[in-house]
Amino acid sequence: MNFLPHLEAKRDGHALSPVQIAKLVANFTAGHIPDYQMAAFLMAVFFRGMTADERRALTLAMRDSGDVLRFPPDERPLVDKHSTGGVGDKVSLPLAPLLACLGFRVPMISGRGLGITGGTLDKLESIPGFTPALSADRITELVQTVGCVICGQTDTMVPADKRLYALRDVTGTVPSLPLITASILSKKLAESLDALVLDVKFGSAAFMQTEAQARELAQAMVTLGNECGVNTRAVLTDMHTPLGRAAGNWLEVKEAVACLTCGPTTQTGSPDTPDLRKLVLEFAAHLLTQTGKAPTLEAGRARAAACLATGAPLRKWEQMLAAQGADLGAYHARLELDHLAPAVLELKATRAGFLTRCDARLLGEVIRELGGGRLTTASVIHPEVGVDRLAKPGEPVQAGDTLARLHARTESEAETARRRLADAFEISDLPPRLAPLIAGTLI
Ligand code: URA
Repeated sequence: MNFLPHLEAKRDGHALSPVQIAKLVANFTAGHIPDYQMAAFLMAVFFRGMTADERRALTLAMRDSGDVLRFPPDERPLVDKHSTGGVGDKVSLPLAPLLACLGFRVPMISGRGLGITGGTLDKLESIPGFTPALSADRITELVQTVGCVICGQTDTMVPADKRLYALRDVTGTVPSLPLITASILSKKLAESLDALVLDVKFGSAAFMQTEAQARELAQAMVTLGNECGVNTRAVLTDMHTPLGRAAGNWLEVKEAVACLTCGPTTQTGSPDTPDLRKLVLEFAAHLLTQTGKAPTLEAGRARAAACLATGAPLRKWEQMLAAQGADLGAYHARLELDHLAPAVLELKATRAGFLTRCDARLLGEVIRELGGGRLTTASVIHPEVGVDRLAKPGEPVQAGDTLARLHARTESEAETARRRLADAFEISDLPPRLAPLIAGTLI
């Protein structure tokens, strides 16, 4: 294929036809277009953007570059939630089993940590034996029988995104609205969903720094998702502060389990995590209303909360873990432990007042340096490291109170992290005006 005229057209600001885009994606995926030409095309898209028609064509062509999951007819709608990523964001863990108990089928194809943001699969892999690598047939089987899976993309799903993302990563073309939209939605469309809710985060630790940027991305994805036949909504959520009181792979699993048991975040009596629970119930409520299972969001939230209180989602979670290879005995033994990391230190408040800041970006950087995230693709994740018992903005503190507890592989790494993390917190005499966790919803 002579791809040069298409590249030149995009460079000069012209729109490509859906057929041209479909051929381009198919030929690139088949290896018939060299990376240097595709990289130039991506840069042209970065500067010129894409029309709504081009975005739709790109998304559908990427979806169709590989296998699309197929499920047998069933009265339970197929639903999923996707987050653009943040620090401490473990919402998917309790949400998937909750949705299964609410009468949905949940083929939750998730990713790994990117930059400082955590990845659902990395968190789940801290559970002994758990495997996120499932074949398409096994995904279908577990979705039909258990009701939910949380797994990685199969090798044959959306291969165009794998190749394009790798190229974008090294050519400075990741932060492009049409390319992000197509990348995220092509993967979600390959799940054959009936309804999708997007958690589009903004703030210091998010992909989108401002609410306005997040709204623009959310609007683009909601429009395109609906045009492609999936009932799609987006919720804009704040990511200046970490979600919950724990960040780091295993520590987040523990907090997710606490959410499923409706109990405290740790067995040592740290207070509850209302922000995590709020988002879990909010996304469940949206999917219930999107699929006509609840008349209003309020009714949906109440139904989701009542379901959580029955304990059924906790049992469903363990059923899902066992189906994906987890050793439940070893998992329960691990849950009983206060910590897995060899070195644990507390960061204490040096004065009394109100906590006005707990910076998610700095926290994410510290956790990555401790080994909880990746600095290169070859980095090995250490599931035991991270931070828990986080104090949250708005809370009163006394001098000597714990602001955070650090979990590290060595005392010296814990000490370095403690010094760095001190800058993430700010204490003032007056309570702060807190921004809402949920800044808006796009329907
Ligand atoms: N997540 C994705 O899957 N793709 C992007 O382009 C950005 C975030």
